[in-house]
Amino acid sequence: MNTEKVDVLVIGAGPAGTVAASIVNKAGFSVKIVEKQRFPRFVIGESLLPRCMEALTEAGFVEAVTEKGFQEKYGAKFVKNGMICDYLFADQFTEGWNQTWQVPRAEFDKTLADTVEKMGVPVSYETTVTDIVFNGSDSVTTVEDVQGNPSKIAARFIIDGSGYGRVIPRLFKLDRPSNLPPRKALFAHTVDLKRSLVDEPNRITIVVHKPGVWIWVIPFSNGITSLGFVGNPEFFKQYEGSTEEQLRALIAAEPYLSERFKDVEFVFEPRVLESWSSTTDKFYGDGFVLTGNVTEFLDPVFSSGVTLATVSSQLAAHLVIRTLNGETVDWNKEYMEQMMQGVNTFRSYVMAWYEGTLDTIFFSDRQDPQIKKMICSVLAGYVWDLNNPYVKNHGTALHKLARTIELTELVGKM
Ligand SMILES: Cc1cc2nc3c(=O)[nH]c(=O)nc-3n(C[C@H](O)[C@H](O)[C@H](O)COP(=O)(O)OP(=O)(O)OC[C@H]3O[C@@H](n4cnc5c(N)ncnc54)[C@H](O)[C@@H]3O)c2cc1C
Repeated sequence: MNTEKVDVLVIGAGPAGTVAASIVNKAGFSVKIVEKQRFPRFVIGESLLPRCMEALTEAGFVEAVTEKGFQEKYGAKFVKNGMICDYLFADQFTEGWNQTWQVPRAEFDKTLADTVEKMGVPVSYETTVTDIVFNGSDSVTTVEDVQGNPSKIAARFIIDGSGYGRVIPRLFKLDRPSNLPPRKALFAHTVDLKRSLVDEPNRITIVVHKPGVWIWVIPFSNGITSLGFVGNPEFFKQYEGSTEEQLRALIAAEPYLSERFKDVEFVFEPRVLESWSSTTDKFYGDGFVLTGNVTEFLDPVFSSGVTLATVSSQLAAHLVIRTLNGETVDWNKEYMEQMMQGVNTFRSYVMAWYEGTLDTIFFSDRQDPQIKKMICSVLAGYVWDLNNPYVKNHGTALHKLARTIELTELVGKM
C-alpha cells in the first residue's frame, strides 16, 4: 500500500478544518484535508458571531464568502411574551467586528473548502479516517474511500477538526461526559413567504417559548428561514406523530410564530438532534491537536459553535507552525487554557439562560446601557476580552446583576 507523506494532516473540511489548513498552508508546510462526506453536505449551525470574522479573515476566506451574498447579520433579538430585547453588535463594549452572516452551512462550508483548495490544499472527499498510529509525534493514518479501499498518510502533525465525528477522542478514548444536561432540537428549513411582515432579516430571533424551551429563527438571503425548537427531551414527549406533525403542532403553540409559519412549506422533513454536548480530557497530545466541535460543544443558544471552531483552529494552526519550526510550545497554557477561557464564559451564559437568569436581565426595562454593551460583546463572541467585567467575572456577574434588577423592581413596586 502506498503511503502519502505530508507535514500536516487535517481531518474534516468544516470551518475548523479549513481555517486551520489555510493558515498552516500559508506558512509553507504541506497540508492535506481528508473529509468523510461529499460537499455540499448538510450540517446545522447557521448563525455566526462577529468574532469568527477575525479567523475567517486570517484564513483568507472573507472575500469568497462575501461574494456568495449570504444574509448579513447585525445582531440578535430575544422575545418573550411580547417583550423584546434587541442586541446590536455595533453597540458593544469590545472593539471588533459588528457584522457577520446567517448561512446555509452546506453552501458556506463548501465555499470555505473550495477556497482552501484553490489556495493549494488538496481536499480528499469521501475519505474516512479509520485508524491512527502514533510513533512519537509522527503518525500514520489509515483512510478508506467509499468503496472501502484503504490507504495511508504519514504526517508530522494531525489537526483533528472532525466535528461530531470526534475521530481522535473516539480512537484514543479521550471522551468525557459534559456537565450540561441532555437537550434536544427539532428543526427545519422553511419557505418563509411572510417574513417581511414580521421580522427584520438582518438578525436572528430567539423566542422564549416556555421555561427552558426556546426557538431559533434564522433568515437566509435566499428566502429560506431556519426554524428550530430546543428544550429538554421530556418536553417534546407531549408531541406525537411524524417530525413534520410535531413541528407544526409546536409552531401552532407559539403565538409569536404561529401566523408567520402557519402551513409553511418545509424544505426537508424536519430533523431531530439530541445530546450534543460533549468534551474531552485534553485538547492536544504528542503530534496532534483537536479543534472545533471535537474539543467541547456546549449548546446552540448563543451560536458559539462556529466561532469556537474557527478561533480554536486559528490559534492551533499558529502553535502547530511553531512546533514544526522546532519551537517549544506550552500547549496547556497557550492552547487549552486559552480555549477554556472562551468555552467557560459561554458555559456560564448557557447555564444562566436555562436557569432564567438571563431572562431577568434581557427583559428588564431597567437595563443599564453600559452593562448591555458588555453583555452584547459576549453575544458577539468576544469571550476572550478580560477587560470586559462580564467576561472576566462570567461565573458571578450575571447572577449579581439579575439579583439587583429583581430587588430594584421589588422596591419600585412598594
Ligand atoms: C441543534 C444545534 C444548533 C446549532 N446552531 C449553531 C448556530 O446557530 N451557530 C453556530 O455557530 N453553531 C451552531 N451549532 C454548532 C455547530 O454545528 C458546530 O459547532 C460546527 O459545525 C462546528 O464546526 P466544525 O468544523 O468543528 O465541525 P463540522 O462542521 O461538523 O465539520 C466536521 C467535518 O468532519 C468530517 N468528519 C467526521 N468524521 C470524519 C472521519 N472519520 N474522517 C474524515 N472526516 C470526518 C465531517 O463529515 C464534517 O464535514 C449548533 C449545533 C446544534 C447541535
